[in-house]
Amino acid sequence: NAETRISLRLIPYSEELWLLVARDVSKLMRLEQVRRDFVANVSHELRTPLTVVHGYLEMLDPSEKPEWAPMLAEMQRQSQRMTQLVEDLLTLSRLEAQDRLPDESVAMAPMMTTLKREAEALSQQRHHIVVEDNAQLDLWGSTKELHSAFSNLVANAVRYTPAGGSIGIRFERDGEGAVLRVSDTGYGIPAAHLPRITERFYRVSTSRTRESGGTGLGLSIVKHVLNLHQARLEIQSEVGRGSTFSCHFGAERVHAREHASQPLLA
Ligand code: ADP
Repeated sequence: NAETRISLRLIPYSEELWLLVARDVSKLMRLEQVRRDFVANVSHELRTPLTVVHGYLEMLDPSEKPEWAPMLAEMQRQSQRMTQLVEDLLTLSRLEAQDRLPDESVAMAPMMTTLKREAEALSQQRHHIVVEDNAQLDLWGSTKELHSAFSNLVANAVRYTPAGGSIGIRFERDGEGAVLRVSDTGYGIPAAHLPRITERFYRVSTSRTRESGGTGLGLSIVKHVLNLHQARLEIQSEVGRGSTFSCHFGAERVHAREHASQPLLA
């Protein structure tokens, strides 16, 4: 029936024989749907109470009770973090529920300017930031979701690079397609962690990452957004030297810029 999902696999058995393995995965898929709905509902329900707590915390004036100031600051920090977690969970649920995104023209010149501004705001002049937009191409896809993916990569680059380091954001041609690269000269990621780094809540070193204020969901969001654009994420990293996250878009995902703009160099 319409609810049944069968997975088929063809496995070579001997010179002349192949095995066709059919597996009923309906139950597995239903369970996955239940998990997704549950996460989406809980996140949604947490949103309102969190907004209230966060709002009132912002209103409390630490100068009235100076001895409470550090506690208030910590409560504000944690409620901010919880709000971000809920937003990220909702973003992931939204992405998981879709198998296609709107196919609009994504203007990359303003996108690069926005990413540059975000990097500067997060870095607070602690890093050297280089932005290059040389492709003279735009993308097809969802501006909103691509922005959230790229901005997660930029936030990570700033978060995992000590003061004095460099952050690069570059958009260039890649064969017939294009690539957006976010590079940093930060801590790097040990090779053993790379295969699992885009899994939900997967984080490398808990002490450093916990201080960082991230949610552990950023790279999952990046991966989902890129998959929905048939784009590929490539990660190069060396401990102590830094990392480069490259988002590769195929020829069918790019088109010439309507209004050619000056290359952005900063
Ligand atoms: P988080 O919110 O913890 O940053 P992410 O999913 O964005 O979650 O990243 C997962 C983990 O990958 C991080 O906790 C961090 O350990 C590692 N990581 C991500 N980006 C970088 C980077 N640019 N440099 C070093 N480590 C990184």
